Amino acid sequence: MPGNMFDDKGRLNIPEVKYDKKKTTKAEIVLNAVYCPQGHNLISVDNEVSGFPGITVRFNGRKSGSGLVSLSAVFGDTSHSVIEGNLDPDEPLDLSCPHCGTELDVLASCPCNPDAVTVMCYLYPKKDPHQAIAFCNVLSCPNSAVIRSGEAMRLLSESRY
Ligand SMILES: [Zn+2]
Ligand SMILES: [Zn+2]
Repeated sequence: MPGNMFDDKGRLNIPEVKYDKKKTTKAEIVLNAVYCPQGHNLISVDNEVSGFPGITVRFNGRKSGSGLVSLSAVFGDTSHSVIEGNLDPDEPLDLSCPHCGTELDVLASCPCNPDAVTVMCYLYPKKDPHQAIAFCNVLSCPNSAVIRSGEAMRLLSESRY
């Protein structure tokens, strides 16, 4: 009988799960929820970046003006896509929640530009800087890819020496 739960000796028939090792090591870590300081989810299914729903935030810059940008939710990926307005990727931008306008919390400064800062999005609606991701607010900066906040703190403290 196909799909029988038990084999002919009456043992439970557990299907063998095959893991594709290559695929596992290559698998991308993708965020499916990140939150503003007020607990709004910033991941937008309407704005895909690199094939996944992106982190959508409002930007404001002296040169760039105001608009909406979606950042890749894939760890280590610096891709972004501008949804509304135009931005200068070399300018440090004020990044805020598109739902409530609250600016993202700043973790540290980034060495790429005197005005650049690493901002955080929280992994849970209740804000905790240790359960967060961080990225630089200059989108041309290699640090604009999302990394864990703990890793960002370590990298930034190492870069001072
Ligand atoms: Zn918000
Ligand atoms: Zn930077």
